[in-house]
Amino acid sequence: EFDFAARVERVEPSATLAISNLASELEAEGKDVIDLSVGEPDFPTPENVVQAGKDAMDAGHTGYTSSNGIPELREAIAEKLQGNGIACTSDNVVVTPGGKQGLFEVIQTVVDDGDEVVLLDPAWVSYEAMVKLAGGSLSRVDLSPYGFQLEPALDDLAEAVSDDTELLVVNSPSNPTGSVFTDAALEGVRDLAVEHDVAVISDEIYERIAYDVEPTSLASLDGMEDRTITLNGFSKAFSMTGWRLGYYCAPEELVSQAGKVHSHSVSCAVNFVQHAGVEALSSRTDDTVVEMREAFRERRDMLVDLFDEHDVEVPHPDGAFYMMPKFAPDGDDQQWCEDALEQAQVATVPGSAFGAPGYARISYAASEDRLREAVDRLAEADLI
Ligand code: PLP
Repeated sequence: EFDFAARVERVEPSATLAISNLASELEAEGKDVIDLSVGEPDFPTPENVVQAGKDAMDAGHTGYTSSNGIPELREAIAEKLQGNGIACTSDNVVVTPGGKQGLFEVIQTVVDDGDEVVLLDPAWVSYEAMVKLAGGSLSRVDLSPYGFQLEPALDDLAEAVSDDTELLVVNSPSNPTGSVFTDAALEGVRDLAVEHDVAVISDEIYERIAYDVEPTSLASLDGMEDRTITLNGFSKAFSMTGWRLGYYCAPEELVSQAGKVHSHSVSCAVNFVQHAGVEALSSRTDDTVVEMREAFRERRDMLVDLFDEHDVEVPHPDGAFYMMPKFAPDGDDQQWCEDALEQAQVATVPGSAFGAPGYARISYAASEDRLREAVDRLAEADLI
């Protein structure tokens, strides 16, 4: 008998598990499931990046690297972030095996037992789990009454943030809503963070997938540079989910403390993958990134129009290849998602998994034909 640590026992298994188990069962029965529950782009990794990874392997870049990452990559990242208006050098950058690991390290470094962390709901599920693993407590601000926008919710945020708040997590463009927060909203975050001396994680992993506005980096705002951890990565921007490559940029004192978690857990990110990362950040990849974004934009436009024809309310999705239609206005989104899967063979994620009952998350990382078919099937099953 194991005597499990309290820290793992306070974390719930993923609420999306029931749906994905059901989806696998249906697929095993030979059913044609349209899976709109996945959080990864459906494009191949750009060819020049794949080639750079192979070349690096052939060149023998297969050993450990320095813990925070190879200098070429940290420099390329610092340069990229300077382009976002963030004052940083490569000494502020830590390269991680995936953005997720970066978030985990930062939360382990900043959040102590009992520390309060503020999340904006609907929020990506892993923030809550990571905070609980670190022993922190959660305070949540619900953006659902405001069409998932932050600017009109700033008064609510002001009520949630106090001198007791240790950390606030902001994610724009957002998973699961697709919202991109306005500059005025980010300035509101800045004012509260400065007033109450709060650290902020700005998760900008969907930065390259935004359609109508260019997302602003929180750390570029006056007063934020010394209190912001900017999190980003390669998975979504360059369709590199399986390569596991991400990074964070933070004040040096944080980098040096988090470096202990980093070096004692992962040692470093994979050597040849870091070399592929340098290529991904080069201008040679720009055209492919734009092509992927434009494909996502067309799908977003198509889905918004189709849902509009069926009178389904969809708070305006502006990026991040997700949207959260209000499929179950009476609130039972779990049941709606089960019905969608069983009756229409369309897999989605219940909004309540993200703190937004009544909604479900759709990932439109699927072809236009499959997306159109998914909507047709939901309509035929009388689910929309
Ligand atoms: N942050 C958000 C909001 C995400 O949705 C994800 C992935 O789903 C990540 C961070 C981490 O991505 P990765 O670990 O692949 O870099």
